[in-house]
Amino acid sequence: MDFFPIFLVIQSKACLVVGGGEVAERKIAALLKAGACVRVVSPDLSSVLQEYLLQGKVKHLATQFRPEHLDDVYLVIVATNDSIVNRSVAEIAQQRRIPVNVADNPALCTFVMPSIIDRSPLLIAISSGGQSPVLARLLRAQLEALIPVAYARVAALAGKLRQQVKQHFAFSEKRRIFWEKMLQGSFTEMVLSGKEKAAERYLLQALQQEKDQPPQGEVYLVGAGPGNPDLLTFRAMRLMQQADVVVYDRLVSPAILDMVRRDATRIYAGKERSHHTLQQESINQLLVRLAQEGKRVLRLKGGDPFIFGRGGEEIETLASYRIPFQVVPGITAASGVAAYAGIPLTHRDYAQSCIFVTGHLKNGTIDLDWPQLARPNQTIVIYMGLLGLSVLCQQLIEHGLPNAMPAAIIQQGTMQQQKIVTGTLQTLSELAEVACLKPPTLIIVGDVVKLHHHLAWFESVPDVVGTDIIPLHQETKDS
Ligand code: SAH
Repeated sequence: MDFFPIFLVIQSKACLVVGGGEVAERKIAALLKAGACVRVVSPDLSSVLQEYLLQGKVKHLATQFRPEHLDDVYLVIVATNDSIVNRSVAEIAQQRRIPVNVADNPALCTFVMPSIIDRSPLLIAISSGGQSPVLARLLRAQLEALIPVAYARVAALAGKLRQQVKQHFAFSEKRRIFWEKMLQGSFTEMVLSGKEKAAERYLLQALQQEKDQPPQGEVYLVGAGPGNPDLLTFRAMRLMQQADVVVYDRLVSPAILDMVRRDATRIYAGKERSHHTLQQESINQLLVRLAQEGKRVLRLKGGDPFIFGRGGEEIETLASYRIPFQVVPGITAASGVAAYAGIPLTHRDYAQSCIFVTGHLKNGTIDLDWPQLARPNQTIVIYMGLLGLSVLCQQLIEHGLPNAMPAAIIQQGTMQQQKIVTGTLQTLSELAEVACLKPPTLIIVGDVVKLHHHLAWFESVPDVVGTDIIPLHQETKDS
């Protein structure tokens, strides 16, 4: 983050604008909206600014800028068309530690003015840090369209009732749940349709019916997908904004964790192969304890919670304690990673079935039903298989799959750093070692891997390709 975003209180504060042209006009209009006392230094004023002067909205110093104009000034905006003047005002202001913004010259600014969506009292500010003002403007336009103008009235009415609601609840969590219910339900709908009095009555009535008891906790078991935040579900996003505490795994990417409500307490329960930060039983008990304290607990897991995620065990414990819970599916690594690697898991010509297994290595062996895996026209997806890769490939060959069967291993699939190594059952393990792959990786075995070279669409680090990979035969599509 290159800037620290803040909203400044400038009501009745002396703010200086150097310049009297069109750019100054825009800046002055914004300052006036926020209640500042605006002084303008400029030999001339545009007609709009002359009008402001006549209406008593601004004070005018009809002269060139002099350093004493900065005395008692809270902030200064510079918008003349003379770059030497602009620079000199900025330098003096900076020496005197007065926040300064110079129009179109980020290098001279100590603060920047964001694009805003004004639904006062609701304000949304967007900045690209001067890197792409057009992108900020486009985003602003999207948000403008998304957020009804009447949200201003929703925020104002909520502000009016805030104190009353606050007094009703001793438990802040209860209060927050109440507001979430109101703001996502009929209260907001009524305000948006212009029925503010009815909305107020509705809220006060609902408030009377709310008992001020400790809130009842619950657990949201949520799949966060394979890592790329774009692959979260809407429901996951919603619950991520409601949680009081998040218990997350190692596979949950930092970008996703960043999207959880800022104030939520974060507890790392990640399990790495070698050191289990928390044992499964302790995680189950932790969820129970947090929910019993009345918390809304977000149990955030990589991929899908019900696929090699031990989500089932966690909710079994919750169920036995009668703790309410809900489960939100996520995109499992197999489908996310395969999609971003351009490897269809099934295909009319190559694979009519697909099987997901874990390749956990225990005492140098892997306990799997090999004959069931080594079948023709089937894609095998192996989770957690990096360490046992050579055993896996060897066993599959021993149980009848050809040496030349295409296979891929994908590290950090769906992420920008995604790395793909393709080869055959005979070569993959060595290629993966040379490529120094690290978990998480997913292994895909089957003829569908041939399609990768044609269908790869996601730009990431270049592939490592075995020399023995069999090229795709063109005839298959048309035959
Ligand atoms: N519940 C998860 C799986 C947890 S097991 C899911 O549905 O995806 C953890 C294994 O998932 C890792 O060892 C790896 O094999 C796989 N995995 C998860 N995310 C991955 C990713 N982004 N790239 C490659 N493999 C991934």
